[in-house]
Amino acid sequence: MVGFGYDSHRFGGEKPLIIGGILIDSEFKIHAHSDGDALFHALTDALLGAMGDGDIGEHYPDTDPLYQNADSSVFVNKTIEKVRSRNLKIINIDITIVLQSPKLSPYKVAIKNNVAAVCKLDSFQVNIKAKTNEKMGFTGRSEGIAVFCICQIDK
Ligand code: MG
Repeated sequence: MVGFGYDSHRFGGEKPLIIGGILIDSEFKIHAHSDGDALFHALTDALLGAMGDGDIGEHYPDTDPLYQNADSSVFVNKTIEKVRSRNLKIINIDITIVLQSPKLSPYKVAIKNNVAAVCKLDSFQVNIKAKTNEKMGFTGRSEGIAVFCICQIDK
């Protein structure tokens, strides 16, 4: 089964920019209830989508004080427990991060390895793509970050 996830977070908050659990040196701070890790949120939604099990907001509501300032790897870990409890496994994960600046090339390997570690996968099962939005739209104007994720899970 294939699942797709998308998430965005706006800048202008007070939280450091964290992508896939990796702290990014950025002038832009995130506005979010949790730690605002858009990659882990998109990944959680992709995994839930592949299982036909709704979305992140249903499972981990942002009105729940439990998730205030939460390390978003918690959402991924809890969702992977669901995957395993259904005797399913992740085949691969492919992620596109849209961020105008800073350039993510120095961080891509660290993000890939950390996503693989959190998901208990080999690094070849995780792919990270990073792009700007050619200065168009909210990402292009550095008003926020967007992340797209697709994953395949199987028996
Ligand atoms: Mg989010």
